[in-house]
Formats: sequence, structure tokens, C-alpha cells
Amino acid sequence: RAGAFLGGDRVSGQDIRDQNGGQLSASTLVHLDGVIIVTAALSIANIVKSSLGPLGLDKMLVDNIGEVTISNDGATILSLLSVEHPAGKIFIDLAKKQDKEVGDGTTSVVIIAAELLRRANELVKAKIHPTTIITGYRLACKEAVRFMQDNLSVKVDALGRDALINAAKTSMASKILANDDDFFAPMAVDAMLAVRSINLRGDIKYPVKAVNVLKAHGKSARESIFVQGYALNCTVASQAMKKRISNAKIACLDINLQKSRMQLGVQILVDDPEQLENIRKREAEITLERIRKILAAGANVVLTTKGIDDLCLKEFVEAGAMAVRRCRKEDLRRIAKATGGTLVSSLANLEGDETYESSYLGSADEVVQERISDDELILVKGTKVVNSASIILRGANDYMLDEMERALHDTLSIIKRTLESGSVVPGGGAVESALSVYLENFATTLGSREQLAIAEFAAALLTIPKQLAVNAAKDSTDLVAKLRAYHNAAQNAGAGDPKRGLLRYGLDLLNGDVRDNVAAGVLEPTMSKVKSLKSAYEAAISLLRIDDAIQCVPEPK
Ligand code: ADP
Repeated sequence: RAGAFLGGDRVSGQDIRDQNGGQLSASTLVHLDGVIIVTAALSIANIVKSSLGPLGLDKMLVDNIGEVTISNDGATILSLLSVEHPAGKIFIDLAKKQDKEVGDGTTSVVIIAAELLRRANELVKAKIHPTTIITGYRLACKEAVRFMQDNLSVKVDALGRDALINAAKTSMASKILANDDDFFAPMAVDAMLAVRSINLRGDIKYPVKAVNVLKAHGKSARESIFVQGYALNCTVASQAMKKRISNAKIACLDINLQKSRMQLGVQILVDDPEQLENIRKREAEITLERIRKILAAGANVVLTTKGIDDLCLKEFVEAGAMAVRRCRKEDLRRIAKATGGTLVSSLANLEGDETYESSYLGSADEVVQERISDDELILVKGTKVVNSASIILRGANDYMLDEMERALHDTLSIIKRTLESGSVVPGGGAVESALSVYLENFATTLGSREQLAIAEFAAALLTIPKQLAVNAAKDSTDLVAKLRAYHNAAQNAGAGDPKRGLLRYGLDLLNGDVRDNVAAGVLEPTMSKVKSLKSAYEAAISLLRIDDAIQCVPEPK
């Protein structure tokens, strides 16, 4: 049955058989109404719509145990919703995927995808076959990406370090860090440049995970600091230990180094008090043996996620090694990766032949305990495999610090994309307006019915500048009309004509006008724009392709 959105009826038991040919009763299967698919997608987009852009508003989410999250980030908001509708879930996955792959642009991608779907639904109602719409959308997406890469993107090299800082600022514009962007943008750029690494294949990589973000209560946001090396919010286990170790060989352990006790329920009958004493001694010795083994393998820094027995600390002090307990597992995993070691999680890994014994150790130039502002921190500097950097965020309370961390993560990802793709495009609706005008003109050159779908694709892109203007309390109709006129003039101008410069025009949300957003420094990495356009298109067509949605419902009792 053609037409994705015409369903809504119950299936009778005779119509459908299960995989084994058995009959399913009418109550087991229900057609999901197709119109509801669109409604579900639109309602998800409506939730995040008002948070788009630098002047978008925040959402407060309260979960069922009363935990409060305040956020402006599309992916964070959506991941906290519990949505049951399958189409809604696809949209939430879309935002999560965008967050994971690009790190930003999550709100935009959901808004565009929902608009594409809404417009497709209108076309289906006008009796255009979904396959035609899908073909039209595919062509539009391909053309849009080509046009963006050929005509709208600007090389970062031409703009220098400013391009990176401006891309960082644009990503921060809608987040909690917006007020302090002149402080945080250079810091984030420095952090990403500090973790530049070349992998075995010779590719240059900027791993976001190599930047450790620590959060500390108190002080103002502007007292946050950037340090070279991986910072751990821990101190050495004993004051007698060395606080600085050069040429560190680091053992990252997920093993308890506390006195091993016999398991609960083990019964031993002894008739001699000396034997009891022997058992106690042996218990302590087992831990000591483990520690000696680790030290004998060459480790001079031992980091563990669990505890270390106080009685055993002497062993480290005598060996001139440093031991740190109760580290976060995630931190150790990252340190192990950065130093070329492995996180040892079972005792069996410590045993074995000579070569293996030391192969889990990572190396770094120096591990040192330092006082940074008010806190004592352990810093792992000069990690051998991947360089590391840390940013210590300061803020008034947990909500603020959490939101700052999320914002910083998005910014770091954007800088990574900018560095890796090497080109940026103007933001503030410039790209969407340019593509919309281009696709509209492109549609008229086609004589086939896909033309209609391409025109709808073009119109759907305009929701971004419209929504940006609405959220800034500006007249969206006027502004979008102005942008379209500018972009039309630019695209009709020949190469070398100064009017081509109008291609960079996007919204100036504070003054309610349009401006050259490359000059104004509102920049986004080309790669993230391309990715969000493609993901939005894929999410929309994956729902459009569904011609029947059948859901299992429980048997009535
Ligand atoms: P997303 O989660 O999609 O990144 P944001 O809320 O971060 O959503 O908003 C991003 C949008 O805001 C982008 O389209 C970007 O071009 C626009 N934007 C960011 N800063 C500015 C600015 N200073 N002026 C105009 N538009 C801006």
C-alpha cells in the first residue's frame, strides 16, 4: 500500500501470520497511525525549537527522583526525555548521533528533519508518491552539499587562529559560557592544539577525550584554568611519598590493594593461636606480594581506582614510587591510553612472563603533585602516545558546572572539526538561506516531478533563520525575505562580481539586521554543517520510507 501516512486501522487476525506461519490474533498487532509519526516528530522538534541560537531559552528538566537539569543543548534535553513513540525515539537517536559525531548542531538537525518530514507529509497528501519525494530529497541534499563545499566554505588557513576562536565563540554563543566567550574560546583552542597527535598511519588527530575537564566548586567562571598534562583530582596516598617523579612508568590498576580478607562464609578451625596469627600475616603478605610484583615490573607511579592498605604504603615510599588511590576509572582508562599502557582489571594480568609483566605500564615525562589555585592535583605531563591537556572549571554550583562542562565539550568538538576539515562556513542562517535560494532555482531547472520535493527541501531549510530570528524576538518574515533577496543577488552575480560577497550574509540577531557573518566572526565548521544536513535528510527519509508501522500490543486480560 503506497502512502506512508494513510494507516491507522486495526489489522484483522486473518491478514497477518507470524514468521512460523502461525496466526496472530487481532489484538496483538495494531497499525500505528502514520499521521501520528509526523506529529510525534514535530512535537519533539517543538520541544527544542525555542532553545535554538544565541538568544534561545533554556529548559529545566526534572526526572522522577527530582534531579534537576538545566540545559540549552538539544541532545542533553532530548536524552532526558522518556519518549515511547517509535518515531519520537528515532528523532532522539538523531540528536544523540549528531552529538557523538559532531558534538554540536543537535538542535538544528532535529528542527530540519522534522520540517522535512512535515513537508513530505503535505506532498503525500497531494498524492505524490513517497518514492518520488525520497528521490527529490536525495538529489536536493547532494546538490546542497556540493554547493556548500564549492561556494560557501572558507579555508581556515586564510583566516588564521581567529577562525578557530570565532568558531569556538559561535558554538558557545547559545550556551552558558556565552558571557565569558572571550576567556573560554582561546582556552579551548589552546587545549585542542595541545592535544594534537599523529597516529600510526600518519594522520593528524585532535582527540577531544585527551582534554580532561575537571570541575571544582567555588570562585567565578573566569578563574577556570588550563594546564598542560592530564590532571587528576587526587593526592598521593601518603605525605612521605615523592611528589615529583621524572621518567614515569605508570601502572593504571582497577584492583584493590587492601589487605585481602577471606571471603564471607569461609570457616577455618584452628586449635593453636599461632596459626591464627599466621593466617593474619599471610593475608597482609598477599597484598605486599602484589605490590612488590608491580614495583618489580618497573612501575614508579601506581594509580588505582580502589584502595591501598595503609600498612603497605611503606613499600612505595621505600621504593621511591608514588601511589594514588581512589582515582576515577574513566580517568585511568584515558591515562592508560595516552601513556600507551593498559588498565589492569584482573590479577591474572599481573602474572605471566617477563615481557608481559611490564607491558601494561604506560610512560610519561613526569608525574607531579602541584598546588593549582587552591587545590592539590596530580598532573601527568608529557604522555607518550597522545598529548593531554586539562581544563579546571570553576563555578558557583553543580548545575552551572555541569552545563559549563557540556558547553565546553561542544566547543572542543567544534574546534576539532574545524581543525580537521580545515574550512568554515558563515553561521546565523547564512548557509541555510544560500542553500534554500540555490535549491529553489535548481528545482526549476528540472522537468520532472522531483521538482516539487526539491522545492519543499529548499523551503524547509529556511526554518533555521526563521527560528533564530523568532527566538531573538525579531521580525522573522522581514529578515528572512532580506536574506533571500541578498543571496539571490549573490548567486546571480558572475565570478569576480563584488555582489558574490553577499553569499556570506547571515543574521545579526542583536540588531535585527543582516551582515557579513564571516567578517563578524560567526563561523561554523563546514564538516559539521554537511553532517547535520545529511543526518537530517537521512532521519526524514528513514521515516518516510515506512509505509506501515505495526506494533505489538499486549493481549487484553
Ligand atoms: P545547535 O544545538 O543546533 O548547535 P544552538 O542553540 O547552538 O543549536 O544554535 C546554533 C545556531 O545559532 C547556528 O545556526 C548558528 O549559526 C547560530 N548562531 C550562533 N551564534 C550566532 C550569532 N552570534 N549570530 C547569529 N547566529 C548565531
